Amino acid sequence: MPTLGIDLGGTFARAAVVDAAGKMLASAKVALAERNPAGVVETIAQAASEAVKSAGVLVGGCGVGAAAQIHKDSGVLSVAPNLGWRNVPLGEMLKARLGQPVRIVNDLSAAAWGEFHAGAGRGAQDVLVVFVGSGVGSAIIANGRLVDGAGGVAGELGHIKVVPNGRRCGCGEQGCLEAYTGGHNLIAQTRELLEGGKSPAVTKLSGGDPARITPVTLEQAVEAGDAAAREVYERAALFLAMAVANQVTVLNPARLILGGGVLTHCPGLRRRVVEGVQAWASQTAREGLLITEAELGDDSGLIGAALLAG
Ligand SMILES: [Zn+2]
Repeated sequence: MPTLGIDLGGTFARAAVVDAAGKMLASAKVALAERNPAGVVETIAQAASEAVKSAGVLVGGCGVGAAAQIHKDSGVLSVAPNLGWRNVPLGEMLKARLGQPVRIVNDLSAAAWGEFHAGAGRGAQDVLVVFVGSGVGSAIIANGRLVDGAGGVAGELGHIKVVPNGRRCGCGEQGCLEAYTGGHNLIAQTRELLEGGKSPAVTKLSGGDPARITPVTLEQAVEAGDAAAREVYERAALFLAMAVANQVTVLNPARLILGGGVLTHCPGLRRRVVEGVQAWASQTAREGLLITEAELGDDSGLIGAALLAG
């Protein structure tokens, strides 16, 4: 029986009806009018109802991928930074509203599961997925199962420490990989170059406007030969590439799937990760390793959430 997948972001809820093979039969997207839990539940219900209506089939179960830390058994969102939520029992609330069993997972786990079943991970049993977007995260599929850890937060690659007492991270700790390599922090570090007047190329590319800076600005400044930009970029690339290489050494996946906005739009950084894995992952761990790009784009989370509910 098809299932319902929900992708809960900071501004929209998307819903899709997905069959057991991971094919999307219909989808809908509704803007979050209110960001309080009751309002968000109503928006999700509206998107779900539109998707189910246009698919014209019955669904059995609902999976939700949310940008949040989730208590894996209770479906409680411990921390959802985009929505400003703490300890919201979204699983129970949605189950009551939709009249369906509901499973809530982290958005990255949902995306990884989608790629594993219906995208770049098809046919493999041991898959490591690394996404670099505004944040940095990984998901581990070992022996065909999603590794979620005792508390449900396994795979948090963005919060491994790379510099003792280093830059402050969005998680509240210091020296995390994400504080150097996540999209938000690449932008922050590039703005610091602009504000300090240290990088002529960043000043030129952004027209002096910090709002125009993206991670691509940094990569372009490096390509233009800018020394200050290169310093920031090299550090980010080195930390990321070595972290992914080390994760490959530890997990020995058959496939490494790279995705997320930063790796998609900054081909130089992506290349550095691939080269880093080839140089630094242990030779035995990378024997037979296939490095590939995520295939499902924005739909991976929707498809994966639906398949996890099946
Ligand atoms: Zn952190």
